Amino acid sequence: MRYAEVSVNSPIAQRRTFSYSLPPGLGVEIGQAVWVPFGDKLLQGVVLELSPHPAVEETKDIAGVIEPRPILSPAHVQLARWISRYYLSPIFDAVALMLPPGFERRPLTFISANPIPGDFDLSTLTPEQRQVLGFIKGQERVSIKRIEKVLGKKKAQVAVAQLVRRGLVIRSYELEPIRAKPKLEPYLRLAVAADEARQKAAELGKRAKKQADLLEYLSKQSGPVPWAEARKNISCTKAAADALVNKGLAAFENVEVRRDPLARQAITPSCPLVLTPAQKTAFTEIKSGLVGGKGGVFLLHGVTGSGKTEVYLQALAETVKMGRRGIVLVPEIALTPQTIERFAARFPGRVAVLHSRLSLGEQFDEWQRIRDGKFDVVIGPRSAVFAPQPDLGLIVIDEEHEWSYKQPDKSPRYHTRDVALKLAELAGAVVVLGSATPDVESYYRAQKGNYQLLQLPGRVTPRVGTPLPQVEVVDLKEELKAGVRSLFSRSLTEAISQAVTNDEQVILFLNRRGAATFIQCRSCGFVLRCRRCDVPLTYHLDQDRLVCHQCNYHTPVPQACPRCARRSLKFLGLGTQKLEQEAGYNFPTARLLRWDTDVTRGRYSHDEILSKFRSHQADILIGTQMVAKGLDLPLVTLVGVVSADTALNLPDFRAGERTFQLLSQVAGRAGRGVRGGKVIIQTYTPEHYAIQAAASHDYEAFYNKEVEYRRQLRNPPFSRLACLTCSHTNDLLCQREAERMKRSLSQEIDSKGIADIEIIGPAPAFIHRLRGRFRWQLVLRGTELSEFLSPVPFPQGWVVDIDPVGLS
Ligand code: ADP
Ligand code: ZN
Repeated sequence: MRYAEVSVNSPIAQRRTFSYSLPPGLGVEIGQAVWVPFGDKLLQGVVLELSPHPAVEETKDIAGVIEPRPILSPAHVQLARWISRYYLSPIFDAVALMLPPGFERRPLTFISANPIPGDFDLSTLTPEQRQVLGFIKGQERVSIKRIEKVLGKKKAQVAVAQLVRRGLVIRSYELEPIRAKPKLEPYLRLAVAADEARQKAAELGKRAKKQADLLEYLSKQSGPVPWAEARKNISCTKAAADALVNKGLAAFENVEVRRDPLARQAITPSCPLVLTPAQKTAFTEIKSGLVGGKGGVFLLHGVTGSGKTEVYLQALAETVKMGRRGIVLVPEIALTPQTIERFAARFPGRVAVLHSRLSLGEQFDEWQRIRDGKFDVVIGPRSAVFAPQPDLGLIVIDEEHEWSYKQPDKSPRYHTRDVALKLAELAGAVVVLGSATPDVESYYRAQKGNYQLLQLPGRVTPRVGTPLPQVEVVDLKEELKAGVRSLFSRSLTEAISQAVTNDEQVILFLNRRGAATFIQCRSCGFVLRCRRCDVPLTYHLDQDRLVCHQCNYHTPVPQACPRCARRSLKFLGLGTQKLEQEAGYNFPTARLLRWDTDVTRGRYSHDEILSKFRSHQADILIGTQMVAKGLDLPLVTLVGVVSADTALNLPDFRAGERTFQLLSQVAGRAGRGVRGGKVIIQTYTPEHYAIQAAASHDYEAFYNKEVEYRRQLRNPPFSRLACLTCSHTNDLLCQREAERMKRSLSQEIDSKGIADIEIIGPAPAFIHRLRGRFRWQLVLRGTELSEFLSPVPFPQGWVVDIDPVGLS
């Protein structure tokens, strides 16, 4: 094996690897990170293959290894190749997913002396060369920077290069260090005993109310608290804190922030629960897949609270017992603190949580520790699927239907589920996909026997057999007829008032991701749709027209409803802010709390909002889909879906599925406690199958309808899609380029005689203009799309998304 195929970290490399020869004496393994000369630069690369023959005639030598140990396992090397092939991404982009964070750094060059042969004529050396040799004599190695300081950059480099050529000196390389400073944050603590603080607080009393409050608050804490947190909780100024400091009652200190989400919590270890019969069956099946590295894919379908997490935990414990390790993927770390805690409690000290709030240095260290086998379980969002977990035995994907598992906006645009399936196949691991509302594609595969279906039919919390909450569907057309113009129907109004009076909590859900406005008749509920594509038409303000985002059909906005002829067409686009305002009017005594990205981008974190609501500092929580995530809030007895129609009317073939998932999940938030619960869904289309099925908690009913529509329209799982987006600063040129591409692809299809690929569009993208660029899209429907598109030259400005999810 004298040659290596290397994936080089250069944008020029694209989907190619490059052949390098191995210099004598340099041992290189597959998966090893190396330095390679590329043009006139020295770049990082990873060895993907070794072979006795080069792929090209002329090869250069590998310059050196970056790390003695291979950085990618053989399975990861195969995975990177697969990702590049399937998602048509540059191969180093795929490799980079698996490298330690902060790996992409420049090299530092070192030199060291080779023994000088006895017959060497020293007089042939230049004075500079001699100086260099003198410099490194007796040293293990010397940084070239130091020699440059003495000789000057140019002279040093020339002399070293000459010495290398004559075999007197060898070069080696090392990554420059990560520049990461520990992050410090001001903390406030008591400077006196808690008793004394409370006494002083009483004395300060009304005179200095804020100071007293702050002091009282500090006296209740077990230790120093982040100043930012104290300030928010007490809503006091820095002056108040300074005053306490001046009085010698409190003190500031800088604390190195531990961004480890498990660090600040006292976690009580937990024991495995006795499994219910359904859990036991699921567990036994998974266990049989674990034995002897047999592998397999399991779809664990169970409503929220049916005990899926307990099954994951015990399957992981079993994996560990067999000497292997696990990866658990969750949609978003910030939204699932309770889930994370449960894993940490079951495997104390053996869980690594990956998330982007760690500093680069911390991420790097964590990566190394994972690779050294320090953790039984690695938990994280989609990128955690690439964690270097050795002896991988089990991958769990919780809430497998979540769209956040698809990498949306960066190459490679991979889907975590498909990557996990591939990785498991390569590593001989088991995959468990869990969901209350499985992705239609996953369920279809389970039906066909590609995955093994495991069902947990009922809730186990607060006790086995707890019924799912009762769901009432309110027809907003009827409300309108009865003269109700508020956002809250009569039913919802009454239920909210009652819950608030009973000191219970309410969640109001509004999915306002439908940024584009759709048009609906307020009298009959009719939504204007494209006749050809059946997706809702989108109103474009700039053109004052309705546009189909799939086929580019245009039409002016009609004066009256095409169905009932009444002039009651409305542009719909309601936001959570408006909802909060209206809730304030309608329920003046209730304490409101809003939770959406506008809020969390600003002052408050997810944790803060959640803990505020959990500790009953608010009665009504108003939010977007975030509130639908895995929260376990026993005081919530009512969940109101203000409008189920927003998600339903997105121009996407998955709109029905999305609506069903969201409604089911939101509904799952109610009645987690002993007081039971109720869900009210407001809609203009109560007869829609997604709403009906969600209201009766009937996944099968939803699935059967949905899969039939998919079959008829030949959408996934009956085909695959690829979304090709062209962007340009000029709208017309962009459209023309998209049309040109369509012609060229059509010719290709014809000349190859491919029967099953169809091209839809071009049409303006859902987000027609993004950061000053216009966007047009082609959608391909077929089966072997990656293969077909692989040789197609895409000019600058094109983005290819295989298996797209959602609208972009
Ligand atoms: P899911 O993940 O399906 O939402 P969980 O695993 O979170 O369900 O279970 C919901 C609740 O029921 C949790 O509080 C959990 O501790 C409890 N639970 C799960 N399995 C059992 C069991 N076999 N016996 C008793 N309690 C259980
Ligand atoms: Zn259309």
